Amino acid sequence: MGLLSEGSPLSWEETKKHGDHVRKHGIQQFINQYKKLKSRSRDILYWGDEVEYMLVKFDDEKKTAKLSLNAGEVLDNLQQCEKLCPQDHPSTWRPEYAGYMVEGTPGKPYGGLLAHFNVVESNMRLRRKEIQQALGPNEVPLSLTSYPRLGVGNFSDPETKTTPETGASKSIFFPDEVIFQGHPRFRTLSRNIRQRKGGKVEIQIPIFKDKKTPSPFIEDFSALGDDGEAARTAKPDHIYMDCMGFGMGCSCLQVTFQACNIDESRLLYDQLAPLCPIMLALSAASPVYRGYLSDIDARWTVISQSVDDRTDEERGKSYLSPIYKCYNDIELVLDQDLCDELQKGGIDETMARHIAHLFIRDPISLFSEKLNQNDEEDTDHFENIQSTNWQTMRFKPPPPNSSIGWRVEFRPMEVQLSSFENAAYVTFIVLLTRAVLSYGLNFVIPISKVDENMRTAHKRDAVNKDMFYFRKDVFTDCSPADVAKCMASGKCERIKCSNIQDEYTQMTMNEIFNGSDDFPGLIPLVKQYLNSVDIDIDTSCTIQNYLKLISKRASGAEPTIAKCIRNFVTNHPDYKQDSVVSEEINYDLLKLIHEKTDNCETLSTDTKFSSKTKDDIPTALSKAEKFLAQKNPQKNMMNGHKS
Ligand code: ADP
Ligand code: MG
Ligand code: MG
Ligand code: MG
Ligand code: MG
Repeated sequence: MGLLSEGSPLSWEETKKHGDHVRKHGIQQFINQYKKLKSRSRDILYWGDEVEYMLVKFDDEKKTAKLSLNAGEVLDNLQQCEKLCPQDHPSTWRPEYAGYMVEGTPGKPYGGLLAHFNVVESNMRLRRKEIQQALGPNEVPLSLTSYPRLGVGNFSDPETKTTPETGASKSIFFPDEVIFQGHPRFRTLSRNIRQRKGGKVEIQIPIFKDKKTPSPFIEDFSALGDDGEAARTAKPDHIYMDCMGFGMGCSCLQVTFQACNIDESRLLYDQLAPLCPIMLALSAASPVYRGYLSDIDARWTVISQSVDDRTDEERGKSYLSPIYKCYNDIELVLDQDLCDELQKGGIDETMARHIAHLFIRDPISLFSEKLNQNDEEDTDHFENIQSTNWQTMRFKPPPPNSSIGWRVEFRPMEVQLSSFENAAYVTFIVLLTRAVLSYGLNFVIPISKVDENMRTAHKRDAVNKDMFYFRKDVFTDCSPADVAKCMASGKCERIKCSNIQDEYTQMTMNEIFNGSDDFPGLIPLVKQYLNSVDIDIDTSCTIQNYLKLISKRASGAEPTIAKCIRNFVTNHPDYKQDSVVSEEINYDLLKLIHEKTDNCETLSTDTKFSSKTKDDIPTALSKAEKFLAQKNPQKNMMNGHKS
């Protein structure tokens, strides 16, 4: 999220009354911006990551590791630099949903130079140091995807109490005071989501059934102040959670890219969509929820269940480029009037359908000051609806009156424990987009298969045990030139919809990433791209190390974080084979994670990765500049199309 605008939140009743107003003006705002900006072109590649951190406080005597609700104070401290030098600060800090979370991004986006890959990790390390300096004794920043004992007993510092009968979420597990208090937005979201649904949020995650886990697994919630709703709602053999904090309180790793124009951004959106489940599985880092080992390894379903009362169809995704129209094989629920409105406004059918689908949502929070807007200049109503859609990909139109171009955001990845790992995943995705644009690679498969992959990606150890649908021939048909032609004519003659089912097959993660006799593999494709550009030794070493991690995770040689956490729990002396992750196990696990973070690079003891970027940011940048001075800068640039 960007800077939070201050204001007075409306009640759900009021917000709901204004739903049509927000949708109508949101659409108009999109149409106005689209008209102004559709022919904006020649933007260059900019990109940047977002990492969410949790603040953890250890008590070494009591052997506890609690979530420190310190974000407000810590953020005041972290944002000093930005306030003093708005144009030039190394990191940017924003609040997140929970009072134990902060979100950090690089102070400026990275550009099209390959040498920038030397800075990604050092900037992430710097951010962790900055948080550390703002924290008290025994407090540390951890980039955990899910805190294992969220919602169990006294999990916060200071201690907080649930208020099942009053308040925003009425959770029997997650106190309202754990929600970030510095801005009303987050509490309002929680209250309105619950009121819109007409009952509490309902999250059900299958429990990992161990030898001594009760069967069926049914919990007694009466001591927690349950009025009967939890007992009625919780499914046997599931970990039940009852508020959006369980999803929004997870951390993630996101990457945003700027494309050279709107068509390229639509193409990137479409090419990255099939990679979402694949990268979710490869980054899996969250096997424990509410103190129990679960049967899933990744958080995405917890987020969708926690913020979302849509049905599966309503949660539809769609490709954005007309050329991939026939791969949109799931009926999109959309607002037909708004869709017509968009098309009347000059927006093509595929894009109109995508936006009209997002706009089936109600605004979930609304501030009285923001109700009446100038649709020519503002985009708040559009952004309001856009941001209530929790999707793995986000299409970001340029903000009004800015130098920023058309962007897409890649949102599925689980945040990794170390800066090395996070930098590796981010770098891999950026390089893959460059290979896509350079070679006109095509990963598109029917959207229903992407959905199926998404379900598979959550499964325990999906990386090693499951198969994913993937396109057989990634060199087919759709070069950027074809896509441009198709966009211009509105017709897609090159795609023969009849044989789509022959275009994809099931592959293992190892085949997808490392290749097989029949498939080149994503990593070899990235390497081929790297061979086609000029690259200095430092940057090349850095990238090779990152690719090594990705490759080993895909082959199973290096376990995912989820697998490491599972192994740690099940081998802990305090573990009783009953799926319970006790306070002591939680403490020992987080202690180990803290020791290893930014030291040994990954949690597993099997492989050692040595990070080559020990440079600080100025050193890394000046090295890169020296290298570039001797080279043809064009060959070190990663801008898209070879046109
Ligand atoms: P949000 O939370 O809405 O996704 P943030 O501002 O938190 O957005 O993060 C966006 C990311 O995009 C940051 O890493 C930032 O550096 C990067 N970024 C900023 N400007 C651009 C741009 N013009 N193109 C691409 N990425 C950008
Ligand atoms: Mg953000
Ligand atoms: Mg955000
Ligand atoms: Mg965030
Ligand atoms: Mg983001």
